[in-house]
Amino acid sequence: MSTAGKPRVLLMHPILDPGPAILAEAADVIPYSPDLPLDEAYIRQAAEGCVGIVSQLMDPIREAVLSTPGLKIVSNVAVGFDNIDVAAATGHKVMVTNTPGVLDDSTSDFAFTLLMATARRVVEADYFTRQGKFRGWAIDMMLGTDVYGATLGIIGIGRIGRGVAHRAKGFNMRVLYYDPNPLTPEAEQQLGATRVDLARLLVESDFVSVHVPLTPETQHMLSTQQFDQMKRSAILINTSRGPVIDEAALVAALDAKKLAGAGLDVYEREPAVHPGLIRMPNVVLAPHIASATTRTRSEMSAMAARNMATAVRGGRPPNLLNPEVKK
Ligand code: NAD
Repeated sequence: MSTAGKPRVLLMHPILDPGPAILAEAADVIPYSPDLPLDEAYIRQAAEGCVGIVSQLMDPIREAVLSTPGLKIVSNVAVGFDNIDVAAATGHKVMVTNTPGVLDDSTSDFAFTLLMATARRVVEADYFTRQGKFRGWAIDMMLGTDVYGATLGIIGIGRIGRGVAHRAKGFNMRVLYYDPNPLTPEAEQQLGATRVDLARLLVESDFVSVHVPLTPETQHMLSTQQFDQMKRSAILINTSRGPVIDEAALVAALDAKKLAGAGLDVYEREPAVHPGLIRMPNVVLAPHIASATTRTRSEMSAMAARNMATAVRGGRPPNLLNPEVKK
Protein backbone atom coordinates (compact mmCIF):
# COMPACT_ATOMS: atom_id res chain seq x y z
CA MET A 1 0.00 0.00 0.00
CA SER A 2 1.17 3.52 -0.70
CA THR A 3 0.90 6.54 1.55
CA ALA A 4 -2.21 7.54 -0.45
CA GLY A 5 -3.79 4.29 0.75
CA LYS A 6 -4.40 3.04 -2.74
CA PRO A 7 -2.80 -0.12 -4.12
CA ARG A 8 0.34 0.55 -6.15
CA VAL A 9 0.42 -0.16 -9.86
CA LEU A 10 3.55 -0.06 -12.03
CA LEU A 11 2.94 1.66 -15.37
CA MET A 12 5.68 0.44 -17.71
CA HIS A 13 5.05 3.10 -20.39
CA PRO A 14 2.69 6.05 -20.74
CA ILE A 15 -0.78 5.23 -22.10
CA LEU A 16 -3.32 7.47 -23.82
CA ASP A 17 -6.40 9.22 -22.41
CA PRO A 18 -8.68 8.22 -20.83
CA GLY A 19 -6.41 5.42 -19.51
CA PRO A 20 -4.41 7.47 -16.96
CA ALA A 21 -7.53 8.87 -15.26
CA ILE A 22 -9.14 5.41 -15.01
CA LEU A 23 -5.94 4.05 -13.43
CA ALA A 24 -5.46 7.00 -11.06
CA GLU A 25 -8.96 6.57 -9.63
CA ALA A 26 -8.21 3.00 -8.62
CA ALA A 27 -4.50 2.98 -7.86
CA ASP A 28 -1.38 4.85 -6.95
CA VAL A 29 0.40 4.78 -10.30
CA ILE A 30 4.19 4.42 -10.31
CA PRO A 31 5.77 5.12 -13.71
CA TYR A 32 8.67 2.90 -14.78
CA SER A 33 11.70 5.04 -15.46
CA PRO A 34 12.28 5.37 -19.23
CA ASP A 35 16.02 5.36 -18.43
CA LEU A 36 15.90 1.79 -17.12
CA PRO A 37 16.38 -1.17 -19.47
CA LEU A 38 13.41 -3.38 -20.28
CA ASP A 39 15.04 -6.21 -18.47
CA GLU A 40 13.36 -8.65 -16.09
CA ALA A 41 15.69 -7.92 -13.16
CA TYR A 42 14.96 -4.18 -13.34
CA ILE A 43 11.23 -4.68 -13.84
CA ARG A 44 11.13 -7.03 -10.85
CA GLN A 45 12.82 -4.38 -8.70
CA ALA A 46 10.39 -1.69 -9.86
CA ALA A 47 7.41 -3.99 -9.26
CA GLU A 48 8.24 -4.60 -5.57
CA GLY A 49 5.22 -3.55 -3.50
CA CYS A 50 2.92 -3.32 -6.55
CA VAL A 51 -0.29 -5.32 -7.00
CA GLY A 52 -0.38 -4.69 -10.73
CA ILE A 53 1.74 -3.99 -13.80
CA VAL A 54 0.43 -2.27 -16.93
CA SER A 55 2.73 -3.71 -19.58
CA GLN A 56 3.27 -3.39 -23.32
CA LEU A 57 4.54 -5.86 -25.90
CA MET A 58 8.22 -4.99 -25.47
CA ASP A 59 8.18 -5.79 -21.74
CA PRO A 60 9.39 -9.29 -20.81
CA ILE A 61 7.03 -10.43 -18.05
CA ARG A 62 8.18 -13.89 -17.05
CA GLU A 63 9.03 -15.93 -13.94
CA ALA A 64 11.35 -13.37 -12.32
CA VAL A 65 8.69 -10.65 -12.50
CA LEU A 66 5.64 -12.84 -11.94
CA SER A 67 7.04 -14.21 -8.68
CA THR A 68 7.01 -10.70 -7.11
CA PRO A 69 5.22 -11.09 -3.75
CA GLY A 70 1.76 -9.48 -3.72
CA LEU A 71 1.50 -9.16 -7.52
CA LYS A 72 -2.12 -9.85 -8.58
CA ILE A 73 -2.46 -8.73 -12.19
CA VAL A 74 -0.56 -7.91 -15.36
CA SER A 75 -2.63 -5.87 -17.80
CA ASN A 76 -1.08 -5.89 -21.28
CA VAL A 77 -1.93 -2.99 -23.60
CA ALA A 78 -2.12 -5.26 -26.67
CA VAL A 79 -4.14 -8.19 -27.95
CA GLY A 80 -0.98 -10.30 -28.36
CA PHE A 81 0.54 -11.51 -25.11
CA ASP A 82 3.62 -13.46 -26.19
CA ASN A 83 5.72 -11.14 -23.97
CA ILE A 84 4.06 -12.71 -20.91
CA ASP A 85 4.54 -16.24 -19.60
CA VAL A 86 0.86 -16.91 -18.92
CA ALA A 87 1.52 -20.41 -17.50
CA ALA A 88 3.98 -18.97 -14.97
CA ALA A 89 1.46 -16.23 -14.12
CA THR A 90 -1.21 -18.85 -13.49
CA GLY A 91 1.26 -20.76 -11.30
CA HIS A 92 1.73 -17.61 -9.18
CA LYS A 93 -2.02 -16.85 -9.25
CA VAL A 94 -1.40 -13.64 -11.18
CA MET A 95 -4.18 -12.59 -13.57
CA VAL A 96 -3.21 -11.65 -17.13
CA THR A 97 -5.41 -9.48 -19.36
CA ASN A 98 -5.17 -8.16 -22.93
CA THR A 99 -7.14 -5.79 -25.20
CA PRO A 100 -8.95 -7.88 -27.84
CA GLY A 101 -11.47 -6.56 -30.33
CA VAL A 102 -10.85 -2.80 -30.20
CA LEU A 103 -7.94 -2.96 -32.64
CA ASP A 104 -9.41 -5.34 -35.23
CA ASP A 105 -10.45 -2.73 -37.77
CA SER A 106 -7.30 -0.61 -37.54
CA THR A 107 -5.06 -3.66 -37.82
CA SER A 108 -7.06 -5.19 -40.70
CA ASP A 109 -7.01 -1.82 -42.49
CA PHE A 110 -3.25 -1.70 -42.09
CA ALA A 111 -2.70 -5.24 -43.37
CA PHE A 112 -4.63 -4.18 -46.46
CA THR A 113 -2.64 -0.94 -46.65
CA LEU A 114 0.62 -2.91 -46.74
CA LEU A 115 -0.86 -5.30 -49.30
CA MET A 116 -1.87 -2.45 -51.61
CA ALA A 117 1.32 -0.46 -51.04
CA THR A 118 3.53 -3.45 -51.84
CA ALA A 119 1.48 -4.62 -54.84
CA ARG A 120 1.41 -1.16 -56.41
CA ARG A 121 4.88 -0.04 -55.29
CA VAL A 122 3.54 3.07 -53.59
CA VAL A 123 6.59 3.77 -51.39
CA GLU A 124 9.03 3.27 -54.25
CA ALA A 125 6.87 5.49 -56.48
CA ASP A 126 6.80 8.23 -53.85
CA TYR A 127 10.62 8.27 -53.59
CA PHE A 128 10.91 8.23 -57.36
CA THR A 129 8.59 11.20 -57.73
CA ARG A 130 10.19 13.23 -54.91
CA GLN A 131 13.63 12.63 -56.38
CA GLY A 132 12.49 14.34 -59.59
CA LYS A 133 12.76 11.14 -61.62
CA PHE A 134 9.26 11.43 -63.07
CA ARG A 135 9.98 12.70 -66.57
CA GLY A 136 6.69 11.67 -68.16
CA TRP A 137 4.31 8.75 -68.57
CA ALA A 138 5.91 5.52 -69.76
CA ILE A 139 4.18 2.28 -70.63
CA ASP A 140 6.57 0.15 -68.58
CA MET A 141 7.07 2.43 -65.59
CA MET A 142 6.56 1.00 -62.07
CA LEU A 143 4.59 -2.04 -63.15
CA GLY A 144 2.95 -3.74 -60.21
CA THR A 145 0.61 -6.59 -59.30
CA ASP A 146 -3.19 -6.54 -59.58
CA VAL A 147 -5.10 -6.83 -56.32
CA TYR A 148 -8.66 -6.87 -57.68
CA GLY A 149 -9.71 -10.45 -58.37
CA ALA A 150 -6.46 -11.97 -57.02
CA THR A 151 -6.24 -14.89 -54.57
CA LEU A 152 -5.58 -13.99 -50.94
CA GLY A 153 -4.38 -16.62 -48.45
CA ILE A 154 -5.06 -15.79 -44.82
CA ILE A 155 -3.07 -17.68 -42.18
CA GLY A 156 -5.06 -17.44 -38.92
CA ILE A 157 -8.72 -16.53 -39.38
CA GLY A 158 -9.32 -14.97 -35.95
CA ARG A 159 -10.67 -11.47 -35.32
CA ILE A 160 -8.10 -9.73 -37.52
CA GLY A 161 -7.89 -12.44 -40.18
CA ARG A 162 -11.67 -12.20 -40.59
CA GLY A 163 -11.40 -8.41 -40.85
CA VAL A 164 -8.94 -8.80 -43.71
CA ALA A 165 -11.19 -11.37 -45.44
CA HIS A 166 -14.09 -8.95 -45.14
CA ARG A 167 -12.08 -6.19 -46.82
CA ALA A 168 -10.97 -8.59 -49.57
CA LYS A 169 -14.61 -9.06 -50.60
CA GLY A 170 -14.66 -5.47 -51.81
CA PHE A 171 -11.74 -6.30 -54.09
CA ASN A 172 -13.49 -9.37 -55.45
CA MET A 173 -10.65 -11.54 -54.17
CA ARG A 174 -10.75 -15.30 -53.86
CA VAL A 175 -10.06 -15.94 -50.19
CA LEU A 176 -8.38 -19.09 -48.88
CA TYR A 177 -7.61 -19.59 -45.22
CA TYR A 178 -5.60 -21.91 -43.03
CA ASP A 179 -6.48 -22.27 -39.36
CA PRO A 180 -6.77 -25.31 -37.08
CA ASN A 181 -10.05 -23.76 -35.83
CA PRO A 182 -12.43 -23.67 -38.78
CA LEU A 183 -15.03 -20.98 -39.29
CA THR A 184 -18.65 -22.05 -39.16
CA PRO A 185 -20.11 -22.83 -42.62
CA GLU A 186 -22.23 -19.65 -42.24
CA ALA A 187 -19.15 -17.51 -41.53
CA GLU A 188 -17.28 -19.12 -44.44
CA GLN A 189 -20.17 -18.31 -46.73
CA GLN A 190 -20.56 -14.78 -45.44
CA LEU A 191 -16.83 -14.04 -45.88
CA GLY A 192 -16.55 -16.07 -49.09
CA ALA A 193 -13.58 -17.88 -47.53
CA THR A 194 -12.49 -21.47 -48.23
CA ARG A 195 -10.52 -23.51 -45.71
CA VAL A 196 -7.47 -25.27 -47.15
CA ASP A 197 -4.29 -26.80 -45.79
CA LEU A 198 -1.21 -24.61 -45.52
CA ALA A 199 0.52 -26.14 -48.54
CA ARG A 200 -2.43 -25.43 -50.84
CA LEU A 201 -2.78 -21.90 -49.50
CA LEU A 202 0.90 -21.22 -50.23
CA VAL A 203 0.79 -22.75 -53.70
CA GLU A 204 -2.37 -20.95 -54.86
CA SER A 205 -2.20 -17.49 -53.27
CA ASP A 206 -1.09 -14.27 -54.94
CA PHE A 207 -0.99 -12.62 -51.51
CA VAL A 208 -0.38 -14.36 -48.17
CA SER A 209 -1.32 -12.42 -45.04
CA VAL A 210 -0.36 -13.69 -41.59
CA HIS A 211 -2.64 -13.23 -38.55
CA VAL A 212 -1.65 -15.89 -36.01
CA PRO A 213 -0.52 -15.29 -32.42
CA LEU A 214 3.14 -15.97 -31.66
CA THR A 215 3.33 -19.34 -29.89
CA PRO A 216 5.90 -22.17 -29.91
CA GLU A 217 3.85 -23.72 -32.78
CA THR A 218 3.75 -20.58 -34.92
CA GLN A 219 7.37 -19.49 -34.42
CA HIS A 220 9.08 -19.69 -37.84
CA MET A 221 5.98 -21.32 -39.34
CA LEU A 222 7.01 -19.60 -42.56
CA SER A 223 10.56 -20.49 -43.56
CA THR A 224 12.51 -21.73 -46.59
CA GLN A 225 10.27 -24.74 -47.24
CA GLN A 226 7.11 -22.59 -47.22
CA PHE A 227 8.66 -19.85 -49.38
CA ASP A 228 9.67 -22.52 -51.90
CA GLN A 229 6.00 -23.50 -52.19
CA MET A 230 4.79 -19.96 -52.89
CA LYS A 231 4.35 -18.43 -56.34
CA ARG A 232 7.33 -16.42 -57.56
CA SER A 233 4.86 -13.57 -58.15
CA ALA A 234 3.46 -13.77 -54.59
CA ILE A 235 3.60 -11.05 -51.95
CA LEU A 236 3.84 -11.81 -48.22
CA ILE A 237 2.20 -9.54 -45.63
CA ASN A 238 2.90 -9.78 -41.91
CA THR A 239 1.13 -7.71 -39.26
CA SER A 240 1.13 -10.47 -36.61
CA ARG A 241 4.46 -10.98 -34.81
CA GLY A 242 7.95 -10.96 -36.35
CA PRO A 243 9.19 -14.37 -35.17
CA VAL A 244 6.32 -16.12 -37.00
CA ILE A 245 8.50 -15.59 -40.08
CA ASP A 246 12.08 -16.79 -40.36
CA GLU A 247 13.44 -13.39 -41.38
CA ALA A 248 16.81 -14.64 -42.68
CA ALA A 249 14.99 -17.22 -44.83
CA LEU A 250 12.65 -14.48 -46.12
CA VAL A 251 15.60 -12.32 -47.15
CA ALA A 252 17.17 -15.32 -48.91
CA ALA A 253 13.88 -16.10 -50.71
CA LEU A 254 13.46 -12.48 -51.83
CA ASP A 255 17.10 -12.33 -52.97
CA ALA A 256 16.59 -15.54 -54.96
CA LYS A 257 13.38 -14.04 -56.46
CA LYS A 258 11.30 -16.89 -55.06
CA LEU A 259 8.83 -14.20 -53.92
CA ALA A 260 7.93 -10.88 -55.51
CA GLY A 261 7.80 -8.77 -52.38
CA ALA A 262 6.76 -8.34 -48.77
CA GLY A 263 4.90 -5.83 -46.63
CA LEU A 264 6.01 -6.02 -43.00
CA ASP A 265 4.91 -4.28 -39.81
CA VAL A 266 6.71 -6.59 -37.39
CA TYR A 267 10.22 -8.05 -37.14
CA GLU A 268 11.99 -10.94 -35.53
CA ARG A 269 14.23 -8.83 -33.27
CA GLU A 270 12.38 -5.52 -32.86
CA PRO A 271 13.31 -2.76 -33.09
CA ALA A 272 16.12 -4.21 -35.24
CA VAL A 273 15.23 -4.84 -38.87
CA HIS A 274 17.22 -7.32 -40.96
CA PRO A 275 19.64 -5.25 -43.11
CA GLY A 276 18.70 -7.39 -46.12
CA LEU A 277 15.13 -6.07 -45.92
CA ILE A 278 16.26 -2.45 -45.68
CA ARG A 279 18.04 -2.59 -49.02
CA MET A 280 15.10 -4.13 -50.94
CA PRO A 281 12.83 -1.75 -52.88
CA ASN A 282 10.16 -4.45 -53.27
CA VAL A 283 9.65 -4.60 -49.49
CA VAL A 284 7.48 -2.10 -47.62
CA LEU A 285 8.51 -1.66 -44.00
CA ALA A 286 6.49 -0.15 -41.15
CA PRO A 287 7.54 0.32 -37.50
CA HIS A 288 4.89 -1.89 -35.80
CA ILE A 289 2.02 0.58 -36.29
CA ALA A 290 -0.84 -1.65 -37.46
CA SER A 291 -3.07 -0.64 -34.54
CA ALA A 292 -1.79 2.94 -34.45
CA THR A 293 -4.82 5.15 -34.93
CA THR A 294 -5.78 7.74 -32.35
CA ARG A 295 -9.11 6.04 -31.65
CA THR A 296 -7.74 2.52 -31.36
CA ARG A 297 -4.73 3.33 -29.20
CA SER A 298 -6.99 5.34 -26.91
CA GLU A 299 -9.48 2.46 -26.66
CA MET A 300 -6.64 0.00 -25.97
CA SER A 301 -5.41 2.30 -23.19
CA ALA A 302 -8.90 2.59 -21.67
CA MET A 303 -9.49 -1.16 -21.88
CA ALA A 304 -6.16 -2.02 -20.23
CA ALA A 305 -6.81 0.58 -17.50
CA ARG A 306 -10.31 -0.83 -16.87
CA ASN A 307 -8.93 -4.36 -16.63
CA MET A 308 -6.42 -3.11 -14.05
CA ALA A 309 -8.93 -1.00 -12.10
CA THR A 310 -11.41 -3.88 -11.88
CA ALA A 311 -8.73 -6.27 -10.63
CA VAL A 312 -7.25 -3.95 -7.99
CA ARG A 313 -10.78 -3.40 -6.64
CA GLY A 314 -11.08 -7.16 -6.19
CA GLY A 315 -13.21 -7.88 -9.26
CA ARG A 316 -12.79 -10.14 -12.25
CA PRO A 317 -11.35 -8.13 -15.16
CA PRO A 318 -13.35 -8.44 -18.42
CA ASN A 319 -10.46 -9.62 -20.60
CA LEU A 320 -8.98 -12.27 -18.34
CA LEU A 321 -6.71 -14.72 -20.21
CA ASN A 322 -6.25 -17.17 -17.32
CA PRO A 323 -9.72 -17.42 -15.74
CA GLU A 324 -8.58 -20.31 -13.51
CA VAL A 325 -6.77 -17.74 -11.35
CA LYS A 326 -9.98 -15.87 -10.48
CA LYS A 327 -12.97 -18.17 -10.08
P1 NAD B 1 -7.27 -14.19 -32.57
O1 NAD B 1 -6.92 -14.99 -31.37
O2 NAD B 1 -8.65 -13.67 -32.72
O3 NAD B 1 -6.93 -15.02 -33.89
C1 NAD B 1 -5.79 -15.81 -34.06
C2 NAD B 1 -6.16 -16.97 -34.99
O4 NAD B 1 -4.96 -17.69 -35.28
C3 NAD B 1 -7.14 -17.96 -34.35
O5 NAD B 1 -8.23 -18.19 -35.22
C4 NAD B 1 -6.31 -19.22 -34.16
O6 NAD B 1 -7.07 -20.41 -34.29
C5 NAD B 1 -5.30 -19.07 -35.29
N1 NAD B 1 -4.11 -19.89 -35.12
C6 NAD B 1 -3.46 -20.19 -33.97
N2 NAD B 1 -2.42 -21.00 -34.26
C7 NAD B 1 -2.42 -21.21 -35.59
C8 NAD B 1 -1.60 -21.95 -36.48
N3 NAD B 1 -0.56 -22.66 -36.02
N4 NAD B 1 -1.89 -21.92 -37.79
C9 NAD B 1 -2.95 -21.21 -38.26
N5 NAD B 1 -3.76 -20.49 -37.47
C10 NAD B 1 -3.50 -20.49 -36.16
O7 NAD B 1 -6.20 -13.01 -32.60
P2 NAD B 1 -6.32 -11.59 -33.34
O8 NAD B 1 -6.98 -10.63 -32.43
O9 NAD B 1 -6.88 -11.82 -34.71
O10 NAD B 1 -4.78 -11.19 -33.41
C11 NAD B 1 -3.85 -12.02 -34.07
C12 NAD B 1 -2.44 -11.59 -33.73
O11 NAD B 1 -2.13 -10.37 -34.40
C13 NAD B 1 -2.23 -11.24 -32.23
O12 NAD B 1 -1.91 -12.39 -31.47
C14 NAD B 1 -1.09 -10.26 -32.27
O13 NAD B 1 0.14 -10.91 -32.03
C15 NAD B 1 -1.12 -9.70 -33.69
N6 NAD B 1 -1.44 -8.25 -33.73
C16 NAD B 1 -0.50 -7.39 -34.19
C17 NAD B 1 -0.79 -6.04 -34.26
C18 NAD B 1 0.21 -5.05 -34.78
O14 NAD B 1 0.24 -3.94 -34.29
N7 NAD B 1 1.03 -5.40 -35.75
C19 NAD B 1 -2.04 -5.56 -33.85
C20 NAD B 1 -2.98 -6.47 -33.39
C21 NAD B 1 -2.66 -7.82 -33.33
